[in-house]
Amino acid sequence: MDIDEADLLKHAVAATVKARQVAQTRKDWEFMGYVGAALVTDRGNLYTGINVSVYCGIGFCAEHSAVAEMIKQGETKIRKIVAATAQGAVLPPCGRCRELLYQVDEANLDTVVMMGNGATQTLKELLPHNWQKQFDKPLAR
Ligand SMILES: [Zn+2]
Repeated sequence: MDIDEADLLKHAVAATVKARQVAQTRKDWEFMGYVGAALVTDRGNLYTGINVSVYCGIGFCAEHSAVAEMIKQGETKIRKIVAATAQGAVLPPCGRCRELLYQVDEANLDTVVMMGNGATQTLKELLPHNWQKQFDKPLAR
């Protein structure tokens, strides 16, 4: 699949639609499904996800569920990714998601991340220092 950034953004926003419909029936689900993520892999496949957000900080970002969908299909290499609110505002990935994308596959350092206002950066630019390469002591067992 050849998908441009505008289409990828549309898929991220579309991922939120059903979740937001359900969320509006629940007082405690203010931010459930409020963010959607869409990614395209090196094989050209598209995967989407939504955030899960409930009280006590339990839940995960939209990027996490998109990555889970990708891994379910046996893929790990992401060519491009975007996360956006239900209204279409592009959100750069949080630090946890940046680390997740990297740990899923080191090749994802070359992933193009949509940052908003038409800007993109590679994951390598967003994660300039790699803690794993500094961590040379084995864990005590
Ligand atoms: Zn995140």
